[in-house]
Amino acid sequence: MVSITNHMPTAELQALDAAHHVHPFSTNAGFATKGARVITGADGCWLSDSEGEKILDAMAGLWCVNIGYGRDELAEVAARQMKELPYYNTFFMTTHVPVIALSAKLAELAPGDLNHVMYSSSGSEANDTNLRIVRTYWAEKGKPSKKVVIARWNGYHGSSMGSGSLGGMKSIHSQGGLPIPDIHHIGQPDWWSEGGDMSPEDFGLMRAQELEQAILELGEDKVAAFIAEPVQGAGGVIIPPATYWPEIQRICDKYEILLIADEVICGFGRTGNWFGCQTMGIRPDIMTIAKGLSSGYQPIGGSILSDEVNAVIAATEFNHGYTYSGHPVAAAVALENLRILEEEKVIARLQDDTGPYLKEQFESLAQHPMVGEAKIIGAMGSLALTPDKATRAKFAGKEGAVGFMVRERCFANNLVMRHVGDRMIISPPLVISKAEIDTLIERAWKSLDEGMARAK
Ligand code: PLP
Repeated sequence: MVSITNHMPTAELQALDAAHHVHPFSTNAGFATKGARVITGADGCWLSDSEGEKILDAMAGLWCVNIGYGRDELAEVAARQMKELPYYNTFFMTTHVPVIALSAKLAELAPGDLNHVMYSSSGSEANDTNLRIVRTYWAEKGKPSKKVVIARWNGYHGSSMGSGSLGGMKSIHSQGGLPIPDIHHIGQPDWWSEGGDMSPEDFGLMRAQELEQAILELGEDKVAAFIAEPVQGAGGVIIPPATYWPEIQRICDKYEILLIADEVICGFGRTGNWFGCQTMGIRPDIMTIAKGLSSGYQPIGGSILSDEVNAVIAATEFNHGYTYSGHPVAAAVALENLRILEEEKVIARLQDDTGPYLKEQFESLAQHPMVGEAKIIGAMGSLALTPDKATRAKFAGKEGAVGFMVRERCFANNLVMRHVGDRMIISPPLVISKAEIDTLIERAWKSLDEGMARAK
């Protein structure tokens, strides 16, 4: 067998990658002409590549490496757990210590009576689980017609059949026959792009009231749940107007609709509190978790259920689960990650120290001629690019072309930022330092300048 290592020339690695690896969310044929950047290592907020470059990762991988890269403690816990009990399932009346300990810890950290965890290996799987849970919940309560889940256009909940249907991404729906039946989408609270002449507050209220209209149109007896991210991530870091969530909560309470907060990005400190629902002041019945749960060191996700939802599900044999639900190594690593977040006061430090600095610096990017709005909450932020700040105009030509160009300039300048259409977004490790924030802002500004020069 050929030995493929970090020491191979980049071009050879890229050629093998292009020949045999199918990348997610990519036009794979393109890798034959422009090879993928080969990431070989990482430490703190920094990635290294096969050419010896150091890259500031302002996306924490895919919004997940909350404690930063290179924490030996997690590697040690994983190795110990692999030796002790590398695998066992939790089907058929068995359990193990890592999953017991992690579940108890999550029940302690989660707000309200969210005390019961069903595991998966990813956010997509967890949202598929949620679909089955909410429908089973209502069926068990004698209301089997309550099946419809209301979600939002431009929300993101994963890319499996169920979670991709819950999401409101047209690019996903257009492939593979999504959405599946009984999913209904309403508008998103994106004032910058869709608010027109309304005030952000009025617009937020109007978008929340679309939930009430949808419930009335579909019939209260048909609607099982509403699912949303406290702050939309993949949709472009859309921070809703302050009027939005209180109205959503009111409507869910009034019509007895289960509220699912998809905390896959917002959870574990990203918005400045343990969970996004705490930042937004809402009381979900179910939370979806993944990503920051293990800081991405192991694939693990889950659904945290309220006492009430759990009581109904627990009373029946719920025929659902995955081979790796509550995997012992993933659970042990997640628990160690939570210990670090808690003992090193990572979230408190973000709130009191680095967060305000990041906010001030990030918002200063609004002074750039091409940035119409720079908004950030905790450690997730978005720049809305525009050729005309006063009118919030879109660029001529294909939407996202300027964002793509700026993203490419960032990457060339050794900064990972992501573009969503013509928004540039960040979600750095929560442990980013003030000096690293300065580097981030400097490189972002330079990349915006270069992108603007090319856009002309
Ligand atoms: N939910 C949200 C809010 C997400 O942002 C994501 C992924 O980005 C998912 C669910 C899907 O998670 P996964 O990619 O682990 O399946």
